[in-house]
Amino acid sequence: MKLFHKIFLCFVLLFGTAFQAAGFLLVNYAYGNAIEQEKKYAFQEFQQNKYILQSILYLEPGLLEKDAGSLANMAGRFTVPVALFGQDGGCIFSNINVQPDFLGLNGEGDGQIAFRILREGGESDILVYGCIAQGDRKACLVTETDISPVVDAQKSMAAYLQKIYIVILCISFPVIFLLTKVLTGPIKKVGKAARRIAKGNYSEKIGIKGRDEVSELAADFDQMAQQVEEKIDELSDMARQKEDFAANFAHELKTPLTSVIGYADMLCRRDLPKEEVKSAAGYILSEGMRLESLALKLMDLFVLDKQDFFLVRMPVKEMFEDLGQGIEPVCRKYGAGLHMEIEDGMIEVDYDLFKAMVLNLVDNAAKAECRDVWISGTRGKDTYQIRVKDNGKGIPPKELGRITEAFYMADKSRSRKQHGAGLGLALVSKIVKIHRAKMEIESDGKAGTVAIIGFPLPGGGADEENI
Ligand code: ADP
Repeated sequence: MKLFHKIFLCFVLLFGTAFQAAGFLLVNYAYGNAIEQEKKYAFQEFQQNKYILQSILYLEPGLLEKDAGSLANMAGRFTVPVALFGQDGGCIFSNINVQPDFLGLNGEGDGQIAFRILREGGESDILVYGCIAQGDRKACLVTETDISPVVDAQKSMAAYLQKIYIVILCISFPVIFLLTKVLTGPIKKVGKAARRIAKGNYSEKIGIKGRDEVSELAADFDQMAQQVEEKIDELSDMARQKEDFAANFAHELKTPLTSVIGYADMLCRRDLPKEEVKSAAGYILSEGMRLESLALKLMDLFVLDKQDFFLVRMPVKEMFEDLGQGIEPVCRKYGAGLHMEIEDGMIEVDYDLFKAMVLNLVDNAAKAECRDVWISGTRGKDTYQIRVKDNGKGIPPKELGRITEAFYMADKSRSRKQHGAGLGLALVSKIVKIHRAKMEIESDGKAGTVAIIGFPLPGGGADEENI
């Protein structure tokens, strides 16, 4: 059974039973009150007729011993129908509509006032029983008070209530139906959205505003859908990056291999002059070196992903003094002047990775047709900042966001000529991540480039103060 039907049925049952019960209790309460009122009235009647009987007995002592005929003559003096029973329970006189046997005393004549409600042939009466004495003889007086109007009123009230009940049920059915629809509507919406998400529509949102439980559920659901969407986007991005990586890798392999095969074929088939043989061998060597560099960098990239590195606290100045031997030849090779200014400071590094990072950045700067390369190290409050700056041709700002992607080359022809494959900055960005550092590359695309790497200071910089 669906939730809608359950809620609808519950409402109808609850409402129907509650209304019936309330109506029944109300009618009964009103009837009880009216009967109590009638009892009081019947008692007054009894008292009045008891005085009348006593006055008759006073005037005619021994009347109780005579036959009923003498009392029957005086029946007109009573205000309501009465009956008189002797000590032995036998009927002395009765002008009550029912048979005296039916009135039969049931211990009522023992001195206590008693009430009985009598229903017969659509008529309802209250019989009041009470004791009366004449000399040493006793008798039981019964008076009859008609309460048919009260009973009829109760019946018509109950019938009227039934009519109201049916009318209210007819009106409340559509109201309950609409109410149930309003209550279950948001749940239905959540269900529909869940089905659409299950079909792959991850951008689906329910967007129910409010503070009730269903709105909270919808908000949680939206949040979950948002997370799923982000995760799916992330996975799609990763899949796309892997595809790009494979395609770029194949492309980067194909170009040097085509040249190598072409030149090797030429050397095999033809007898070439010495100069041409030298030139062909030169191409094969150059492309071979490009392949070797590609293979080495790829290996480094994979190794960085797999390995755990142990970082050691080291003085930056000393590291750069050592690194100078590797940096200077690179700058010299491309005709760039080197300027280094390194402040004292300690950072946590894997020295080999740190070295690879700096050499890659300097290599890129020197290859960018610059005249000078500046390397600086400054100690800040929480970080130690290393900047590698050049005044080369720069990187177009729109390319800056992608240059750390594997195989991405801003200037393809220059990179290829210089044995690059777009892996240097991908490697650097992984090394930066391993050191929990942050890297920014800034360039206006004309007046050089600066790479800024901020290393966190050990102990948030506090330890450094004590050195
Ligand atoms: P590669 O190994 O081919 O040099 P990188 O990943 O190191 O590749 O760099 C990606 C691209 O970013 C390069 O193709 C190059 O065009 C550009 N680039 C990186 N550093 C600089 C720089 N300092 N000046 C100008 N261009 C740069």
